[in-house]
Amino acid sequence: MAGLDRIKKKRTIGLDEIPCLCTPRNPAPRDICSSGRFFYPKIEPWRLYFFACQSKADLACLEGNWYLHMRLPGLIDPHVHLREPGATHKEDWASGTAAALAGGFTAVLAMPNTQPSITDRETFTQAAKAATFKARCDYAQYLGAGPENAARAAKLAPQAAGLKMYLDQTYGQLRLDDMVLWMAHFAAWPPHLPIVAHAESRTLAAVILLAALYDRSVHLAHVSRREEILLIRAAKEKGLKVTCEVAPHHLLLTNEDIPSLGTGRSQVRPHLASTGDQQALWDNLEVIDCFATDHAPHTLAEKDGSDPPPGYPGLETALPLLLNAVHAGRLSLEDLIARMHTNPRRIFHLPVQPDTWTEVDPEARWAIRAEHLFSRCGWTPFEGWQVRGKVLRVVLRGQEVYREGQILAEPGYGKNLRTEYASSRDIS
Ligand SMILES: [Zn+2]
Repeated sequence: MAGLDRIKKKRTIGLDEIPCLCTPRNPAPRDICSSGRFFYPKIEPWRLYFFACQSKADLACLEGNWYLHMRLPGLIDPHVHLREPGATHKEDWASGTAAALAGGFTAVLAMPNTQPSITDRETFTQAAKAATFKARCDYAQYLGAGPENAARAAKLAPQAAGLKMYLDQTYGQLRLDDMVLWMAHFAAWPPHLPIVAHAESRTLAAVILLAALYDRSVHLAHVSRREEILLIRAAKEKGLKVTCEVAPHHLLLTNEDIPSLGTGRSQVRPHLASTGDQQALWDNLEVIDCFATDHAPHTLAEKDGSDPPPGYPGLETALPLLLNAVHAGRLSLEDLIARMHTNPRRIFHLPVQPDTWTEVDPEARWAIRAEHLFSRCGWTPFEGWQVRGKVLRVVLRGQEVYREGQILAEPGYGKNLRTEYASSRDIS
């Protein structure tokens, strides 16, 4: 450990001075992962980190005596509600994508349950136009599955993030109860393009059956219960083309938190589940493909009103909360990157965003406060939570777009991942 003593004495060190512990002569200890492209040495007590060392230039920066800042790939959130068109007092493309950048996300996929719902060429164009002028990070827009739009929606499929099917209780008007309507969409939507389903409990079993019958993939949104994650495990073990996402709030909150959150503010769909359900998610981490925020902002006045709508903001809290889980040993950094970058990019066939990364200080300790959030909704269910790990800087397509509390990207900087990357599409 002579190398570490040398580091300790220096204020700043060069990359060549960092001892690489991942060599054949010096096999990696248990908490050091070496998998070729990525490695993550964690050296107590100084906690040296580095990540994604494809080249020396990848090391973002080195400050202080004890640790490096860490460079993560640009995070991808496949499940956000940006409320435009129709409810821009809660959020719009500019404020929602500012929140995304502040949270370390460089790409978001926007849900279609706006007002009006995005179900045809006219509404799809309306949303796309708002995004073109206002998005600060890269994006794509979902189409919503309605009772009569299967053929029309399928025509727009190549330009859409995917088809969203609301099969259980949710916010908005897009719920489909009749399985014959589901079948129309499964038959019409191109087999190689994503279908995302909000399906809980037995509805989840039904939509997995449909995916099997049509021999196509389905991505299951915000899985929250033990029976659901076990069903998905069984489906995957059978070789069915099923993927899923879990929201940080279902990993970190349960129905026991409802009294402290308050009845209105705790409203979310799927509901906060039991501690047993929550434990089952952690116990089946390898079944979870993505962590998606389901960023669903509503104002405090609405949440505290007589008819509180369901949903939490999540874009700005997800990464720090999950880095906290890494520190707590519940998750590895590689688990996090797989679920917030690699898997969503693969599942949704997203292009590579060149020269794009998120730089974090993995050691910074701070408290989550709604007053510092860029989301227009003005609150968070994680108010006051102490976290360790902070986004410092985000670079998107070579341009610095966020730095230490400041959004630097102008509205309109964001590119449509489906239509503006066409020539550089790199699907892996
Ligand atoms: Zn949602």
